[in-house]
Amino acid sequence: DTVYIAKESDALEPRVAASPDTVKRMTALGLDVIVQKGAGAGSQISDEAFQAAGARIGTAADAKKADVVLRVRRPSDTDIKSLKAGAIVLAQMDPYGNEPALAALAKAGVTAFAMELMPRITRAQSMDVLSSQANLAGYQAVIEAAHSFGRAMPMMMTAAGTVAAAKVFVMGAGVAGLQAIATARRLGAAVSATDVRPAAKEQVASLGAKFIAVEDDEFKAAETAGGYAKEMSKEYQAKQAALVADHISKQDIVVTTALIPGRPAPRLISRDMLKGMKPGSVAVDLAVERGGNIEGARPGETVVIDGVTVIGLLNLPGRIAASASLLYAKNLYTFLETMVDKESGSVKVNMDDELVKATALTHAGAIVHPAFGGQTS
Ligand code: NAD
Repeated sequence: DTVYIAKESDALEPRVAASPDTVKRMTALGLDVIVQKGAGAGSQISDEAFQAAGARIGTAADAKKADVVLRVRRPSDTDIKSLKAGAIVLAQMDPYGNEPALAALAKAGVTAFAMELMPRITRAQSMDVLSSQANLAGYQAVIEAAHSFGRAMPMMMTAAGTVAAAKVFVMGAGVAGLQAIATARRLGAAVSATDVRPAAKEQVASLGAKFIAVEDDEFKAAETAGGYAKEMSKEYQAKQAALVADHISKQDIVVTTALIPGRPAPRLISRDMLKGMKPGSVAVDLAVERGGNIEGARPGETVVIDGVTVIGLLNLPGRIAASASLLYAKNLYTFLETMVDKESGSVKVNMDDELVKATALTHAGAIVHPAFGGQTS
């Protein structure tokens, strides 16, 4: 069977869904790999590097030949037209609120998988695109903050005087937050962090950061069975806000990463709290795409609010695309490998597999995912 690696049609997306390593692995499985010309350019992977790994370089028209298409983002309406019926598409489909796009995928007869719906179980750890990309986003958030800060991060004792260590506060200590903590620590900052899940406390401490949170009865029950945070009550939010307002006034850099599955991001920093920060402080809102943790943060923009630089950059993993693509490509390859028959080199979807059930959005002309109106069998 033939696998097609698309060049992303969104000009703001530099990542690519394959690497020379995964191309080599796919050809070893007996698959023919076609890479759209220039697909790796934004991730420092040349056509020659893909070729040397065993791929053929093709054009957009070659998508029609593909049994499997690997992408970073959901195919556009134009992209969909170039797919053959029955083709499998693996991408971050961003399905919530995009039901018309799902209907278009179904109508085209493709089997579309939303990689971000991969269950967070041991078997699927190496296919977990949310984790691989959030980890890099957490790293890059601190790099961007440091770049905008205008001061050094570590304490420096020099003959000309002492520079104080920057104080960094990370809100939300999931995958992105924990990497932000680790990165800020490596740069020599004094780091503190907060979360509503009690499990985060030990993880924050193990990275050498101070844990700050309202640890009441609601906090003790804030983690769902799936390991995610619940939406907190108004009372809890008020207590948290008071604690944060005081703490934040002493910080130089704040990185927010708080998300609640299926809900808007919780508002953690108000305009008043920003006002309480020292001029020259920096705040990075990683949740800006989902409504934002910081009041006034704007998707895709950096704004200065009351002397505080508020960074709302989108697609932070895309700003370290070479690393992000490497990990993303491996996530997709690992999932695809589960569908390849090693004897014949053909790809077959087992609709009863739990990973397939969790991620398949469309199949055989219909929407099949129960979260989007599909019928469960
Ligand atoms: P996420 O992106 O959904 O949220 C980021 C963080 O924000 C979470 O830690 C969450 O608790 C926190 N948060 C939510 N509301 C908050 C509030 N009001 N105030 C402060 N913090 C708030 O989370 P994630 O990074 O995807 O991680 C979620 C969980 O899944 C974690 O426990 C993580 O360790 C776990 N996980 C498990 C696996 C696996 O087992 N394969 C893989 C990845 C992550």
